[in-house]
Amino acid sequence: MNHLFGEIRSHMPAADTLFIETSAGLKLSYGQMMSATARYANALVGLGVKPGDRVAVQLEKSPAGLFIYLACVRAGAIYLPLNTAYTLNELDYFIGDAEPAVVICDPAKHAGIAELGARHGVKAVVTHGTGMDGTLFDLAAAAAPDFADVARGPDDLAAILYTSGTTGRSKGAMMSHENLASNARVLVDYWRFTGKDVLLHALPIFHTHGLFVATNVILFAGASMLFLPKFDADEVFRLLPKATAMMGVPTFYFRMLQDERLTPEATKHMRLFISGSAPLLEETHREFERKTGLRILERYGMTETNMLTSNPYDGERVAGTVGFPLPGVTLRVVNPETGEKLATEEIGMIEVSGPNVFKGYWRMPEKTKSEFRPDGYLITGDIGKIDAKGYVSIVGRGKDLVITGGYNVYPKEIEVEIDQLPGVVESAVIGVPHPDFGEGVTAVVVAKKGAQIDEKAVLGALDGKLAKFKQPKRVFFLDDLPRNTMGKVQKNILREQYKAIYS
Ligand code: AMP
Repeated sequence: MNHLFGEIRSHMPAADTLFIETSAGLKLSYGQMMSATARYANALVGLGVKPGDRVAVQLEKSPAGLFIYLACVRAGAIYLPLNTAYTLNELDYFIGDAEPAVVICDPAKHAGIAELGARHGVKAVVTHGTGMDGTLFDLAAAAAPDFADVARGPDDLAAILYTSGTTGRSKGAMMSHENLASNARVLVDYWRFTGKDVLLHALPIFHTHGLFVATNVILFAGASMLFLPKFDADEVFRLLPKATAMMGVPTFYFRMLQDERLTPEATKHMRLFISGSAPLLEETHREFERKTGLRILERYGMTETNMLTSNPYDGERVAGTVGFPLPGVTLRVVNPETGEKLATEEIGMIEVSGPNVFKGYWRMPEKTKSEFRPDGYLITGDIGKIDAKGYVSIVGRGKDLVITGGYNVYPKEIEVEIDQLPGVVESAVIGVPHPDFGEGVTAVVVAKKGAQIDEKAVLGALDGKLAKFKQPKRVFFLDDLPRNTMGKVQKNILREQYKAIYS
């Protein structure tokens, strides 16, 4: 039996039940999902994909992207989604590190990626557009519509999701079948999803939120989704009356609040708005309730763990908190240096364990070891506390991560690029409050004496080298970076100094 897909099958509604409706009006049933995923699985096997092989995918969002994810699971392969914003420069690292058997990309990107594939010994680089186009689509169309799922156990890998690394190197988080299945099981129950639900899906599907949280929950509930290529306020308000639930990043809710179409009437069929991936401002939480009468349910998770905590469905949803540890998840707050457990309301490092916690970083056994305590708890890198009622709050991030529009940006990766520019001594990249993106990526640069370098030159040099969302929104110049006695750059001082630049 295939652990994850076997469980999806066990929850499967009647074949003619709607699974996905796109914003263009295309309707796909569970029966069509079964035959499409079988066709893609057959096509991948035909290209030489064997159980345990990685299949790297960089595709614009479309139902085919989800079918390819499920096809990989059925074929016992490891699905490896890549952010569509990644440049060839960045893909070179991922393909070299993951050594996928097959890479699937947009037809327009084929030439560059095929060249990378050839260099890294990839068996085939095939294409898929957002419709019925691309070489993989053609192979799938010609393949059989049924497939015998490859047997996989709970600990076998279903996916690798790359997260950025503070050292500048991205790490591949290895997710097992049971990591994904256990979390979907819990969330369906905790958030009360049933076959009657219609989820408004406007998240990207290369990230855990839109891929696993949203899709696996819908599949385990036998429910359906309204599938938008991206968040677009007009489309969201047009489709809201057909939906019952939405999952979003805080930016979605911030944008909806700016819109006069957000009324109790517009949301009257909605039973649940869920927010996560970045902190939801308390003000957004309260304003949303004031305008709709509905309280957003905030939850907390990370790529490496799936979902960890959630505000309750029935109980009090407290603004500024991420709720309680989910059933099966154990969460503690400890002194980061000693590992000693802290008391209620004391701030420290959040550590977690549970069947949802990943299997480690791909080909980084030492890094993996250093992220876990000897008793098996994962050190999340998030700083937080637990109150007397058991609600968890995230106070900050230990790792200096910047979260912009729901995407994680690790400063080091950008600093390395800036530091290479002629005329630059060093740089520090920070996230500062931004009304639209939550945080705006901001660079502080120390230039060589007399160097002819300015904001425009730095931004121009980074364009095309880094994904758009990672590029700084502003660049400032200082004579020196503030440092502590240990020589570490004090980013907190910089954050304070530039905190009002986007307001
Ligand atoms: P990712 O791996 O991209 O899902 O990012 C995980 C990180 O996002 C976590 O380690 C947290 O720092 C942050 N995060 C996720 N959800 C929340 C939340 N509700 N509030 C604050 N931070 C969050």
